[in-house]
Amino acid sequence: MHHIVSRLLFFSLYWLTGLAQANIIEVTLLGTGTPVPSSERYGPATLVKINHQYFLFDTGRGLITRLQQSQTPINAIQHVYFTHLHSDHITGFSDYWLTSWIWQRPHPLHVTGPDGTRNFIQQLEKAYQANYQYRRDNTKLNADTYYSHIDEINQDTLVYQQDGIKITAFTVSHQPVSPAFGYKIEAENKKIVISGDTTYSDNLIRHATHADLLIHEIAAAPTALLEGNLRLQKVMNYHTTPQQMITILNKTQPKYTLLNHVLLFGIGEEKIIKQIQQQYDGKLAIGRDLMQVTIGDSINIRVIKPLKSH
Ligand SMILES: [Zn+2]
Ligand SMILES: [Zn+2]
Repeated sequence: MHHIVSRLLFFSLYWLTGLAQANIIEVTLLGTGTPVPSSERYGPATLVKINHQYFLFDTGRGLITRLQQSQTPINAIQHVYFTHLHSDHITGFSDYWLTSWIWQRPHPLHVTGPDGTRNFIQQLEKAYQANYQYRRDNTKLNADTYYSHIDEINQDTLVYQQDGIKITAFTVSHQPVSPAFGYKIEAENKKIVISGDTTYSDNLIRHATHADLLIHEIAAAPTALLEGNLRLQKVMNYHTTPQQMITILNKTQPKYTLLNHVLLFGIGEEKIIKQIQQQYDGKLAIGRDLMQVTIGDSINIRVIKPLKSH
């Protein structure tokens, strides 16, 4: 009798543990940088894992290295979403796409992005034809998984809906880059929003209100540097200043906010956080490469210790 009770207890505990694990969403910042070359901040890329499925948002410089460091199985990602086609968000794509092909990715990539995505992907497929033929003929790599499935979008669109996971692309304000998208991921009664590159955007406010996790870009430049520098003024005009961030956070009230695409032109990160926190009292931090957020009953953040390559 005792034996049966303990076995029942064991199985119910096992079941409960399994259930608890299924409820956790894992978000990994693979790259939090900008076009500025940096070994600390690789190009923009964010990985969302829900119930053993991986969704990748942007594919900036060094993505494949961060995937290796975070011990993500590189051939397991099926869905890739581009926020926009500025080079810093897509230069890591070819390396990731080709390397995961060599790692015998069992499926083609499914790439979703703004108009121009099809041209970008198909030109790459052509550009790497010599490599494609060598590997297909010599090492018998799967020809079918080389070519990506491509979806182009040009307005707010529900881009994925399956197994209780819903992903919505929504337009943001990154003029003259148009359309540029943010993404909203909804699953397990949680909401994660990735801003992409944008200045203040009413549409982002609409989608990000009460998000469990908001990942939002930030930019600031010293006044002395901005004065008379038309090019820099144009850059700052399509990004989000700390003052705008205060408005965005007070309007959306996320449970937790991580700032990425950190473009500060020498201004200290702590100064930016302090400035925002003077007028906003929610949870906020500057994102770092390999920061991992688990979202379940509570939100926990750690920085992954990079796996050494061998
Ligand atoms: Zn960018
Ligand atoms: Zn951009």
